[in-house]
Amino acid sequence: MNIPQSSYPRVVIIGGGFGGIALAKKLSKKEAQVVLVDKHNYHNFQPLLYQVSTGGLEPDSIAYPIRKVLQGYPNFFFRLAQVEEVKTDDKRIKTNIGEIFYDYLVVATGSETNFFGNKNIETKGMAMKTIPQSLNLRSLILENFEQALLTDDLHHRDALMNFVIVGGGPTGVELAGALAEIKKGILPKDYPDLDTRRAQINLVQSGDRLLPAMSEKASEKAEKFLEELGVHVWKNIRVTDYDGKRVSTNTKTIFDAETLVWAAGVKAVGLKGLDSEELLSSGNRLKVDECHQVIGVENVFAIGDVAQMETERFPHGLPMMAQPAIQQGRSLGDNLVRLIEGTPMKPFVYKDKGSMATVGRNKAVVDMPKFRFQGVFAWFVWMFVHLYFLIGFRNRVVVFINWVYNYIRFDREARLIIRPFKKQNKVERDTLTQD
Ligand SMILES: Cc1cc2nc3c(=O)[nH]c(=O)nc-3n(C[C@H](O)[C@H](O)[C@H](O)COP(=O)(O)OP(=O)(O)OC[C@H]3O[C@@H](n4cnc5c(N)ncnc54)[C@H](O)[C@@H]3O)c2cc1C
Repeated sequence: MNIPQSSYPRVVIIGGGFGGIALAKKLSKKEAQVVLVDKHNYHNFQPLLYQVSTGGLEPDSIAYPIRKVLQGYPNFFFRLAQVEEVKTDDKRIKTNIGEIFYDYLVVATGSETNFFGNKNIETKGMAMKTIPQSLNLRSLILENFEQALLTDDLHHRDALMNFVIVGGGPTGVELAGALAEIKKGILPKDYPDLDTRRAQINLVQSGDRLLPAMSEKASEKAEKFLEELGVHVWKNIRVTDYDGKRVSTNTKTIFDAETLVWAAGVKAVGLKGLDSEELLSSGNRLKVDECHQVIGVENVFAIGDVAQMETERFPHGLPMMAQPAIQQGRSLGDNLVRLIEGTPMKPFVYKDKGSMATVGRNKAVVDMPKFRFQGVFAWFVWMFVHLYFLIGFRNRVVVFINWVYNYIRFDREARLIIRPFKKQNKVERDTLTQD
């Protein structure tokens, strides 16, 4: 992989997401050679993917070149590569561009959509975990309306304008809200010759409330906001199958819909060589101790979504969110320095800063450790926090300008079919969804 020898110990980080980047930044000025490997050359700001899917933002404004994050640090190396295997016996990783030795290995590979083994939903439904997937969804939504305009078959027309979003967590809620705003503000102007009032946005949640990880008040308010926007919220219903046209559930309710978005679960991205049963917990996460060390494997650490760190408050592991990943990355950076210097590592303590979700214009819910609020103020807080954590000054400016523009003009101008998406064509679909 063409990495020079160094007198410093080598830390190899797999994954340039929230955790990997936070760790690399921490180590960049320390006495360590840092090699970051990612299959993409950019960091993906996943919390704003739904805005790419719904034409509110261009994909470039939520992606940032990994090389630029750590420009100018002589001990930092980035390699664009897919890691295929970890060989813990001889401390090497195997990638599609070669092998590399590590002194310390950090797995920060994040998570992927969990279809819970349902192949039909996986192949016929849409996921929204990567930028290519979000662009596919954007194309499909717009193509559906173009097709709805042309068909004389009323049932098919309704199915093309019927959207089923599965999963009432923040992703499902935010996507449903954004689609409802498009229906209200954009479709009637773009398609004056189509009865877009018939478009339906269905949000299906298997539990008895939306946003189950947030307070009851936040759940109630989010549901109310969605209903005000015209979203049909279905609770206590489990989607069981999808043949590309019909969504089946565990009740008598069925939906004839050309679009199903699966936002009902994620699982950790595993790696060959670190996949034995004793290393993994539920959701494929690597069990780690309070210093991020993978339990039972020497010199291998895991942070972020892929790491299962159980604490008293979070007995099933820390939430799969950006904050735990960032905080763990920073903490592990300090601990690796301690390890290299031969001093004891310090246990990680997670500082819960709360969670939030936006439903649409002037509508958001925020749960902070001491305060809970909903509505306009929450929406401003949501925007500020997302701008603050977005990587790159240019991205912040672009996103801010887009939001102001969209707010004033009630618009989303990135509603472009740049690369058409053919749902029925499996081969093409797989090529386009490659991540
Ligand atoms: C739609 C959506 C909305 C979200 N909204 C929020 C939100 O509002 N607030 C919040 O806190 N969290 C949110 N999250 C969750 C948050 O994005 C994740 O918890 C966070 O990204 C986890 O960080 P990470 O560093 O563990 O992994 P990631 O950020 O996912 O990064 C993992 C990296 O590893 C790389 N990688 C994986 N496998 C390999 C391999 N084999 N070889 C090389 N590279 C590899 C990937 O390319 C990626 O760059 C959202 C997630 C999604 C999908």
